[in-house]
Amino acid sequence: MNVAPDPKSIPQGTLLSPEAGQAAAPATATGVLTVDLDAIVANWRKLEKTAVPAECAGVVKADGYGCGAEQVARALSNAGCKTFFVATLDEARAVRAAVPTTAAIYVLGGFFQNTGDAYAKIDCKPVIGDLNELAEWDVFCRRSGWSGGSAIHIDTGMNRLGMTVTEAQGIVPRINAGDHGITLVMSHLASAELLNNPANARQLTAFREIASLFSGVPASLANSSGIFLGAQFQFDIVRPGCALYGINPTPEADNPMQPVVELKARIVQIRNIERGDTVGYGGTWTARRPTRIAIVAAGYADGYFRAASSNDGTRGAEVVVAGRRCPIAGRISMDLTAVDITDLDRNAVRRGHMVTLIGEGITVDELAHHFGTIGYEVLTSLGRRYARIYKGGNATGEPPAPPPAEPAAAST
Ligand SMILES: *Cc1c(COP(=O)(O)O)cnc(C)c1O
Repeated sequence: MNVAPDPKSIPQGTLLSPEAGQAAAPATATGVLTVDLDAIVANWRKLEKTAVPAECAGVVKADGYGCGAEQVARALSNAGCKTFFVATLDEARAVRAAVPTTAAIYVLGGFFQNTGDAYAKIDCKPVIGDLNELAEWDVFCRRSGWSGGSAIHIDTGMNRLGMTVTEAQGIVPRINAGDHGITLVMSHLASAELLNNPANARQLTAFREIASLFSGVPASLANSSGIFLGAQFQFDIVRPGCALYGINPTPEADNPMQPVVELKARIVQIRNIERGDTVGYGGTWTARRPTRIAIVAAGYADGYFRAASSNDGTRGAEVVVAGRRCPIAGRISMDLTAVDITDLDRNAVRRGHMVTLIGEGITVDELAHHFGTIGYEVLTSLGRRYARIYKGGNATGEPPAPPPAEPAAAST
């Protein structure tokens, strides 16, 4: 086994030149994650158009599905998004710092005891899914005088969060009495990505009935996939998450969304091995010919799941090297992954170049398939070690400076 010579070494402390499709990256970066905020905004506009006249919110929980909640929320806000959903109060705090005070922020993950102050402090709204939560929230509002509002979450068949329909009926007299402080009534679909799943129609019927009793309160049922189930699922506000980030909300059909995330990782070594040599932990992959292997600086600790490994019996994931798909060789390890680049031109790549793990035709959904999971988990597992680059989206979030005031006309 010998290490392939390195034709040109890259000076340290410089940016890689954008030659041969290599994006500029800090010299120290093991990989580069590029989040295209313009693509997120384009996806939001498409969803908004699909759901009009319903309002289109933005779900930015789990750090904006791994893409950066503040950056995403700011870009969506600049595009006109006025309502945001997160899972936790900490996430709400991050989003509040990024969006105008007029934007509404709902916390989906349940109202915890003694947290009313924390909601009031950053002006965000709990999504209340249980009568005990509602009672505690009411006590807090009465004592503090806080009137920032809350959502009522009604379970219509998922049996996760939310009060029962019967419990929700108990709130209706209060709605009719007015001044109830409820700004949204919502439920969540369990199987929206399957167009013909009968659970969708059952949940729709149950939600339509109960929501109609909450007169004057905006209603919300649809996540990303729910938007594509038809207008009757869209109510007053839709709550897309995954589709904003380029995941296919209609897995039974072509993806209507634009890709958002591109992930590249650096080749740290190229080696030539003999026929019969094995690669990686356990020696599970055997070279069937004289083989060139590129060792890439991304592994399962970076969210490149070990489940996508290959062995002598099974192909794993692929990566794009110099414009061509190449297979992974052997087990993905914590920090490194081996790629079989034998079929490439000898001079096509060298040490220091980046290979593409997501992008150039490799979608988040394809990678999820190799990982044995869904695109959501791929995105929310994206590693913290990559350099992150944000494209577009008015990334600074600075509003354009107001024009200078007209000088007052001089009086004569
Ligand atoms: C996560 C979540 C959403 C967004 O779902 P996607 O499938 O990502 O569009 C909407 N509503 C609730 C209650 C959620 O938990």
